[in-house]
Amino acid sequence: MDSWQELNHRIIACRLCPRLVAWREEIARVKKPAYADQAYWGKPLTGFGDPQAGLWVLGLAPAAHGGNRTGRIFTGDRSGDWLFRALHRAGFANQPTSVSRDDGLQLQGAFISAAVRCAPPGNQPSPDERDRCFPYLQEEFAKLKRAKVLVALGGFAWQAALRLLKSVGWELRPRPAFGHAKEVRLGPCVLLGSFHPSQQNTFTGKLTEAMLDAVFERARSILQRGIE
Ligand code: SF4
Repeated sequence: MDSWQELNHRIIACRLCPRLVAWREEIARVKKPAYADQAYWGKPLTGFGDPQAGLWVLGLAPAAHGGNRTGRIFTGDRSGDWLFRALHRAGFANQPTSVSRDDGLQLQGAFISAAVRCAPPGNQPSPDERDRCFPYLQEEFAKLKRAKVLVALGGFAWQAALRLLKSVGWELRPRPAFGHAKEVRLGPCVLLGSFHPSQQNTFTGKLTEAMLDAVFERARSILQRGIE
């Protein structure tokens, strides 16, 4: 077993947060009527993508009937539809859709994780749950040796990324506030903010496809040409 497999096995077996374990398993048992014939994953989600990635995308947590159903982050929900279309347009994904773990999707130079690995009620992990899950992010970061651009989808992921970079010695004071297309340099990394592609943002026009594309185009540009 290689070190990625070892980490992923530990993540999938994790039961450190009683509230989230109960929630993810209850969702998997009750199911949404539209998915009643499907076997839900109902466990924590590992990161997904290219271990040699220069781009690391961070989300908040799995969706109850998206990742918690399919077993892959941002897979099988509307946020993922937006995200993977954008990653495909930017050349980071081999296809624009992400519907199941065996759909053939491959990321090219990109890796995706969530700050919290289990679906939380109301998409709101508690501070304790966030803290218990944080070491998995640190372990992934230590393995993603080529990750230079971090895209944080939403304020929760932004804070997790800042905390992660601080934990390896890179910190800005005052702590930079989250914003769409916000860009900060921390050590050898660049952190880019993006509104989360949740329906709350995409239905209201707060986030458009052009706005999301601009973030990944900027990420691509930094990876290819450095910060200009
Ligand atoms: Fe474990 Fe993270 Fe899930 Fe908590 S949220 S049970 S720490 S995988």
